[in-house]
Amino acid sequence: MPENLSRRFVFGTLAAAPLAGSQLTRAGDQYLNPRKVLLWESTRKEFREALEGGALKAMIVPAGSTEQHNEHLAMIHDTASVTLVAQQAALLVYPQVMVATPVSVGISPHWMDRKGTLSLRRETFLAVVFEICESLKTHGVTRILILNGHGGNAKPLAEAAPEFRSKLGINVQARNYWDAYTPEIIKKYMESNKAPAHAAEFETSFAMAAFPERIHWEGVDYAKAKARLNIKEPGSAKDDELFHQEAKLAATWKGEAMIRIAVEWVAERLREMIAQG
Ligand SMILES: [Zn+2]
Repeated sequence: MPENLSRRFVFGTLAAAPLAGSQLTRAGDQYLNPRKVLLWESTRKEFREALEGGALKAMIVPAGSTEQHNEHLAMIHDTASVTLVAQQAALLVYPQVMVATPVSVGISPHWMDRKGTLSLRRETFLAVVFEICESLKTHGVTRILILNGHGGNAKPLAEAAPEFRSKLGINVQARNYWDAYTPEIIKKYMESNKAPAHAAEFETSFAMAAFPERIHWEGVDYAKAKARLNIKEPGSAKDDELFHQEAKLAATWKGEAMIRIAVEWVAERLREMIAQG
């Protein structure tokens, strides 16, 4: 139920408006159930027919994290946000793109001193992403956009992409969804002039627009929590407190604008990849 509610909320606030009380969304010139662009919500029949019929041209592999997002945001934020951008972008170019199951734990050793963070070693994470791409290639997929939503994954994925391409012999690219944001865009929408940062104005705005049920301000008392946090590195402790303050600048309209920009940018990258042949 929360899943449906949040989907409906997003569709209600972005370009793809829902038909009231239904699961339908607008994709190109038709209406369809948005699950149709999600591999893990599809049947083998649906996927096979999309692929073999030639409609499906590319896949997105979202990569996120499960990690602390300060005192108020759910730990799944990076995975949830990148998956949402991936799904919305796939709907914009429907039926040419589907989204593979997201990698929901990333490379987060830098947050391990904050309780709850899960972290994979670089080689473990890259092996998981590679083998998902390899599986897709086995089924006949020839274009894969690895779409990242967590800072710690960015450099390893960018460095590994050329190797993935040469090992698999298909078009594999790795981008962060926030690559969509130029300094001008960030300045225009973010009072803190920062994006993505961490659990601050941008990510909190994103969650307000897309899945407000993942924001939990009730009972948050940073001053009280601070003594118990035991953040080792002084610079990191300072940022943690600053990001907590900057999160209060968040607004739904900022999230909606930033989501729309990212979705359109990702759809454009997909169109480019498909045009490359
Ligand atoms: Zn995050």
